[in-house]
Amino acid sequence: MQTKPFGKSGPQASVIGQGTWYLDRGDRRSAISALQRGIDAGMTHIDTAEMYGDAELVIADAIAGRRDELFLVSKVLPSNASRRGTITACERSLKRLKTDRLDCYLLHWRGSYPLADTVAAFDELIAAGKIRSWGVSNFDAEDLDELLDVAGAGKIACNQVLYHLQERAIEHAVIPWCERHGVAVVAYSPFGHNDFPSPSSKAGAVLQGIAQARKATPRQVALSFLTRLRSVLAIPKASSPEHAAENAAAGDLTLSDGELAALDKAFPRGPKPRSLPML
Ligand code: NAP
Repeated sequence: MQTKPFGKSGPQASVIGQGTWYLDRGDRRSAISALQRGIDAGMTHIDTAEMYGDAELVIADAIAGRRDELFLVSKVLPSNASRRGTITACERSLKRLKTDRLDCYLLHWRGSYPLADTVAAFDELIAAGKIRSWGVSNFDAEDLDELLDVAGAGKIACNQVLYHLQERAIEHAVIPWCERHGVAVVAYSPFGHNDFPSPSSKAGAVLQGIAQARKATPRQVALSFLTRLRSVLAIPKASSPEHAAENAAAGDLTLSDGELAALDKAFPRGPKPRSLPML
């Protein structure tokens, strides 16, 4: 499994991580086994959020005794992202995750609290050793410009954004911005949430063909395509150990230029939308 830095010379995280949205809704034992199988296979980067119901509690059970192997990320809701509220929310997440620190802590999306207040809270959390780095989610290039003015260079570890084969809007401005400033891009919903291309579609057939030729699966090829750029990591969510193992193996698959070009043609980037798509 490859790793990539979270921010300029920041801590390294596995290029394929594990999403946990809705992981608390199905069979709990299967969810715990999925996380553990994923960690065993190298997906040590785990993404969660205070918004994801009991997902933090499921993670706590899955990672007991293994905290030091992990790169753990959680997020504060915009409605809690005041200076004091961010600190309280982080402490709540630490308690639920049964850990004393997060490797990265994110503002889930931009809300009405001034960015300066949230950033001040992040700085305080770093000074207290409760988080190692901080980042944002669902920020467009203009939001990142404002954030950079507030925080200064070299502070933003990542921007977590929607990115999958059928939604490539971030390639227009967000990825170039992040690459210019040494900010990691974390692709969320890399399988389109619940809309993965079917092999019966024209583009899905191209994906399937490449997968067969590489003795891989279409989902592994999709993850490899999304993480082809040096700044991009991806966090698929899986609730079965089999799915987790399949996704982890994508961390060792490198596509050829010809395969990347075929996927680029089958799933075109499209024009730049007016606003950043998000779920
Ligand atoms: P996703 O990862 O694109 O897709 C999850 C779906 O793919 C689930 O139905 C899952 O089924 C299925 N799946 C996973 N691996 C599979 C495999 N190998 N074979 C077949 N099916 C497979 O969707 P997502 O949960 O929306 O996104 C991933 C993570 O990104 C989230 O969990 C969350 O951590 C993060 N996220 C962040 C934001 C944000 O605003 N920052 C928004 C959305 C998501 P099973 O569950 O049955 O395995």
